[in-house]
Amino acid sequence: MAREDAETGGEEYPKEGHPVFVVQKHRAKMMHYDFRLEVGGVLKSWAVPKGPSMDPAEKRLAIPTEDHDMGYAGFEGVVPEGEYGAGAVMLWDRGTYRNLTEGAVSMEEALSRGRATVDLHGIRLRGAFTLIRTRGGQWLLVKKRDTDAIPGWSEEPDPRSVASGKTLEEIGMEQEER
Ligand code: MN
Repeated sequence: MAREDAETGGEEYPKEGHPVFVVQKHRAKMMHYDFRLEVGGVLKSWAVPKGPSMDPAEKRLAIPTEDHDMGYAGFEGVVPEGEYGAGAVMLWDRGTYRNLTEGAVSMEEALSRGRATVDLHGIRLRGAFTLIRTRGGQWLLVKKRDTDAIPGWSEEPDPRSVASGKTLEEIGMEQEER
């Protein structure tokens, strides 16, 4: 199945027959996190400047960006200078999700309506998150108050990749050495 091959980028991670999500920490001109959800065979994507939070009190701005191919879900490395998004990319989290949007609507429909709830099964991110489109056309990514929520949560100082165990710094430096 071509879709599955592309989906994993040749690597394996929990799938359980559910769609995947990935969060890539990306040191481009501005440090940000790319939050991506598999919807309809592509990765729907948002740039989250401060990154997702496990704290329900934190409403994180999520700026819609271009859809990416499923193959990008496995990408970690350095986007070369001169290309869009040049800089180091680290797999900050990945796993599968379930659509928990009220009314049992599809993800496509939920996103077009501007409100989707997903139950994430990742390593750093777990439990329900809501994506809400604001009047200004931006989105907010907010942890729901469930048993997985961690009030006061903050990211560890120098997080490591869930795929390679490397820091963003190490990923960036390796490429320079080649
Ligand atoms: Mn990015």
